[in-house]
Amino acid sequence: MTDLDEAIAAVRADVAALHAELVRYGLVIWTGGNVSGRVPGADLFVIKPSGVSYDDLAPENMILCDLDGNVVPGSPGSDRSPSSDTAAHAYVYRNMPDVGGVVHTHSPYAVAWAARGEEIPCVITGMADEFGGPIPVGPFAIIGDDSIGRGIVETLRGHRSRAVLMQNHGPFTIGVSAKDAVKAAVMCEDAARTVHFARQGGELIPIPQDKIDALYNRYQNVYGQSSDDRR
Ligand SMILES: [Zn+2]
Repeated sequence: MTDLDEAIAAVRADVAALHAELVRYGLVIWTGGNVSGRVPGADLFVIKPSGVSYDDLAPENMILCDLDGNVVPGSPGSDRSPSSDTAAHAYVYRNMPDVGGVVHTHSPYAVAWAARGEEIPCVITGMADEFGGPIPVGPFAIIGDDSIGRGIVETLRGHRSRAVLMQNHGPFTIGVSAKDAVKAAVMCEDAARTVHFARQGGELIPIPQDKIDALYNRYQNVYGQSSDDRR
């Protein structure tokens, strides 16, 4: 086995296993939702096949793609189609070289904010820690070309948030690794749910920007959130 083969095998195992977290946290129904992970040191990524039940996902049926979203011919799993969101994932990997993982779900509370085209305001310290501010809304875009990928990149580039709510659609999250992107998807839904509940009871209290900055910097740089920890 070459180093590249080993790297691909590790990402296949990682991406297949991480899909269980989407189920565990109630972020997906049926075969919806997808996780991908970049193969370190290569212009490749691994993504979920289209239309396969969560119970049947395994390292060998994950699909290896190049950064244009084309399936690598002859690789394990290449007899199936990759997730219908593959073009969006590929666009993110091509345009954000530091991104090692991408996740997309239709988790219900996040989708509810997306359906209103409303960003989730940063009104809880956990959000300041994790996202460093509000979770932004991206443009309305439909599947079939680069417009979803472009909307994700244009919204998240230079933004602290690792989550974007694509308008009328749902959350896409990025991370330094596939696991980091999955964590962002879980935390995004948690924030969407909690802030929704909070607003039912009355007016939200904003957190001053300097306090958001302090919380974010502490959590990201000091409080054990090294990139290693987030993998
Ligand atoms: Zn979708």
